[in-house]
Amino acid sequence: MALKADALLLLCGVTAGLPAVAAAADGERYDPYAKMATGAHRYDMREVLQSRGKFVAEPVEQPDLSQLDSLPLSARASEPQVPGQLPEGWVQIGEVVQRREIAEGRKQIDPKPLPAWEDIEGNQYPRKGTVFLNFNGGMLKAGDDNSAENKSTLARHNHPYPVFNGSEATALTLIQAVQQDLETLGVRVLYLNRPSKTVPYTMAMVGGSWSDTNIGDPAGGVAPGTDCEDRDQRNVVYAFDSSSATISQEIAHAWGLDHTLGSDRIMSYQAGNNKHFGDNCQALCEEQCQGPGTIGCRLIHEVYCGEDSEQQNDLAELNKIFGTPEDDTEPPTVNILPDGDVIELEVGADIEVKADIHDNYGGVGWRIKVSRDGKVALDEVDYEKVGAWYFANLEAGTYEVVLEAEDHAEHVVQDKLTIFVGTPAPPTGSGGDSEGDSEGEGTTAGGDSDATGGSASDGSTSEVGPGADDKGGCECRSTDQGAGSALGLPLLGLWLAHRARRRRRA
Ligand SMILES: [Zn+2]
Repeated sequence: MALKADALLLLCGVTAGLPAVAAAADGERYDPYAKMATGAHRYDMREVLQSRGKFVAEPVEQPDLSQLDSLPLSARASEPQVPGQLPEGWVQIGEVVQRREIAEGRKQIDPKPLPAWEDIEGNQYPRKGTVFLNFNGGMLKAGDDNSAENKSTLARHNHPYPVFNGSEATALTLIQAVQQDLETLGVRVLYLNRPSKTVPYTMAMVGGSWSDTNIGDPAGGVAPGTDCEDRDQRNVVYAFDSSSATISQEIAHAWGLDHTLGSDRIMSYQAGNNKHFGDNCQALCEEQCQGPGTIGCRLIHEVYCGEDSEQQNDLAELNKIFGTPEDDTEPPTVNILPDGDVIELEVGADIEVKADIHDNYGGVGWRIKVSRDGKVALDEVDYEKVGAWYFANLEAGTYEVVLEAEDHAEHVVQDKLTIFVGTPAPPTGSGGDSEGDSEGEGTTAGGDSDATGGSASDGSTSEVGPGADDKGGCECRSTDQGAGSALGLPLLGLWLAHRARRRRRA
């Protein structure tokens, strides 16, 4: 049991006869979910142009709840209940799926992520968040969690996950209950539309059976353990029984909550009514509920309830992540570097572009789209949040590079860079780089006009003036910045410099 080991270790100078395994067991702190990618995404543009579609994101499949009343039950049956096998490095303890090194007490999740990780746009707290309740099943792929791509640590690879085994009315009742459970948080619950791939979200598969996943023993629901404070924002969880508390509990597991006692608590196994997330420090339920090694985020719980308290404050932790449910009226700002709308390059040249994105909440996501002579060649979400792309071997043509950011209020904003390769840019005013050309590129689905200037006010994105961000990021740049001068290299420091600025303000 990790905490006891920790306590012993702290005392180990005066604790004779401490079992060697416990002493060795503890201590090392890490964070498997606060991943930091380095280096730009690299593309050989010759390969991209030849490969037709390989670099273009598939459209999102939209849910269809009417299936729940039309599809025969036999078409929703789970596979015969054959135990699955978890991927390397994961273990099941009762109904908890845990990373092996945590279950064995060898590691603990660091309550403080690396500052450099928190500085990456979108990772900061508080965030806005999105939950997608998936009643339609679908083909899931095995791999590290990525809800947008139907990839899940707990998925049976290429196994058709069944449609929810209940009526549309039952589904709507569950949806409403989950919405209520989350109503004090800055989290939206979607079920009629699948979220855009750009924006990170937690997906809950509702329905099916434990044997539709890769766990080895029956469970009412399952989530990948130990994503404390929802550092990875794209988890996939499963709720097999038709209970809203199970759905909410699995979602909250993916945000770092562990099991507690209390029949009125969502995070408890005890049967009860009117279950809710608690706003007090409540006793954790480790050995009574599952077994040792099942409390994955203990050091985070201690931040709110005290060292060795063996307690968890559900809402205090969730409010740190997602704040409160006020509307988000401010779109992100987005700027592609190098600055300027148009660049001329020679055939065969390379270029690196970088993202300069800000939002008033964490949770923003972004993608890059490249077209040549009007045809889309590449369209990929930057799931790793690298914020830099290196395009090598540019063949002749006119390229449009569009950086698009999206927040959880469906504010979608773009900035665009046009690259003329092997052909001169048309004179200013006749097309490519005019202000009018980029008008309307930034769309704000919310349609709000509340332009406070917000994150542009730090002065670092001077071409996005106050009042501009109601239309997106890019309309009011001036049309100077002609050809060729501003290639990637002199600007390499800007993304990092910007992060640093934001951190100082925080
Ligand atoms: Zn659970």
